[in-house]
This record gives sequence, structure tokens and C-alpha cells, in this order.
Amino acid sequence: MSINQSGDEIDLLIGKMKTATSPFRAVLNSLHEKFRNNQEGDVADYIPELFKAKPDWFGVTVVTTKGQSFQVGDSRQNFSIQSVSKPFIFGAALDEHGRNKVLERVGVEPTGEAFNSISLDEESNRPFNPLVNAGAIATTDLITGKDYPSRVNRLFEIFSNYIGRDVHVDNSIFMSERTTGHRNRAIGHLMRNFEMVSNNFEESLELYFQQCSLVVDSHDLAVMGATLANQGVNPLTDVRAIAPNHVKDVLSIMLSCGMYDYAGEWAFRVGIPAKSGVGGGIVAVVPDVCGIGIFSPPLDKKGNSVRGVQVCEELSKEFGLHTFAVSEERQKLIQMLS
Ligand code: GLN
Repeated sequence: MSINQSGDEIDLLIGKMKTATSPFRAVLNSLHEKFRNNQEGDVADYIPELFKAKPDWFGVTVVTTKGQSFQVGDSRQNFSIQSVSKPFIFGAALDEHGRNKVLERVGVEPTGEAFNSISLDEESNRPFNPLVNAGAIATTDLITGKDYPSRVNRLFEIFSNYIGRDVHVDNSIFMSERTTGHRNRAIGHLMRNFEMVSNNFEESLELYFQQCSLVVDSHDLAVMGATLANQGVNPLTDVRAIAPNHVKDVLSIMLSCGMYDYAGEWAFRVGIPAKSGVGGGIVAVVPDVCGIGIFSPPLDKKGNSVRGVQVCEELSKEFGLHTFAVSEERQKLIQMLS
């Protein structure tokens, strides 16, 4: 949708999606058909457990802000959320501590570097943004609780509010994250050196590994996206997951930093806030309209799901979803006014 899309236009778009013989269902089916045989990309193997995913898995779900759901393919296949979790924890940290305190610990600048790069802003010593590992570990460190179990419960509660059901961790993924997590520990120690994380940061690293190992499916991601699209209220449960004034902070970061070092290209080509993860998940948000959840494990060189990027590109083109797209309706008005 365009930034100035009217309420009527939004209703029309949702209306088009929801009718029983919905042409939108056909659009999803044909996108799935079009990309399902694309064999490009590789399943992540840097964490051994992730490599067990089947390259053929491919599911797409769209959930509207009115709560309708459209699914195709392996939409209910479970996988680990991985980096898709990061913007949601950034939002929770904002809710818990407010903008100023969070921005003391993490910046909002895209890096163009790999997600796991061991680097901090040289002037402020802050990690560049909350969607690279350094920034994500710093924001997870801001999730408080009287002890470790209460912090884990808080973590689960954050995601339960977004998803609308209880969540759990895949223990084999968690163990695999922990045993191979040396680079993340190095990042944690570097940030501790600059006092960007608390004394408790080793516990926060454990929490971060738990967070990455949460089990979701594409429908869950679509509901999470729809919650952000719906000003922070889960459209299936009516539960508020994030304060309305922080939604735009989360979406801005997703638009500028959400797709690893493809983020600039993504903002240019697709133009909607999104976040990907090495498990093969992508969540994308069309404000006021819907959340999109995609799962397909083969990743491109930048670490984004190959089929996931393709689906988003096509949806954006077909429905003029780019944030700065000028809709035909608006074009008409511009012509009438000139
Ligand atoms: N578990 C991953 C890590 O920190 C999460 C990264 C991701 O999805 N990019 O290494």
C-alpha cells in the first residue's frame, strides 16, 4: 500500500482478499506453483541442526488485520524462528525501557555487513542496529526478570502475545546454537568490555539462543506480521503485543535493516518492512492490511530465503505494496488536481 492510502482503499484491498472465491487465493496458489520448483540456494549448515531441513519445504500464509487467513503449501511446517525474532525483542525492549534507554544500547543504522559481524560503532561503542547479532544480543539483554526462569517466561510471553498461543523451544536446535555459539559469545564479551550489556550478559546469551530456537510455522509469522500491521493488536485474539507508539520504530528498523546485507536492495525493490532468518522464515508487514509469513529453507548468498524473497517481490509488484508506490487511485486524484 502507499503511505497515503485511504481507509476505503484498504477496505477494498482486504475485501478483495477475503471473498469466498477470492482471487487472492488463486494468486497465492499460482505464486507457490511458480516458485516451488526453483532449486536455487542452500539450506544453512553452520548450525548442524538447521541442515536437517528439507529444501523442498515451501509454505506461505497471509493473515489480514481483520483476522482472515490464506495459506498455501507447507504453511504448517514447523521451523526455528532464528533472526525473525529480533525486531519483536527490540519492540519489547522499547515497551519495557522506553526509547532513550534502548537507544543508549543500540543504534538504528544499517550496516551492509554480515549479521554476525564482530563490530561496534567506533564512536558510541553501540552495536549498529537491533537486527544484527550484536544489537539483538544487546536488546535481549534488556529483557528483565528476577531470575533466569522468569526472563525465559517473559521471552515466551512476548512471542505468545504476538502468535496467540503458547510457544516452546526446539531443544535440539537450542543445544546446537549453544555448542556452536562461540562467535555470539565473542560479540557478547566485546560489548561487555564497552559496558553495552549488563553483568548478566552470559545469561542473556543463553536467552538469545532460546529466542532463536523458538518453534513457529508460516502461519505464526503471518499472525505476528498482522499484529504489527494492526498497530500492535493481535487480530485473532485482540491481545495487545506492543504499545502503538513503538510499532513504527519496529517497522522502520525492519524496512532499513531487516534483510541482512540485502536490506537496501529490498527497500528499493519490495519496499515493505520485513525480517528474515537462517531457518528459512520471512515475516513481512503491509501496514493496515496484512502480515505475510513465508517458510522455505534454501537461502541465497545473503542469507535470505530464495523463494521467500521471490514471493514478496511478486506480491509487492502485483498489489503496489511498496511504501512509496503511487496507487492508480492516487494517480487519478493527482491528475484531477493538476
Ligand atoms: N542463531 C543464529 C545466530 O545467532 C541467528 C541468526 C540468523 O537467523 N541470522 O547465529
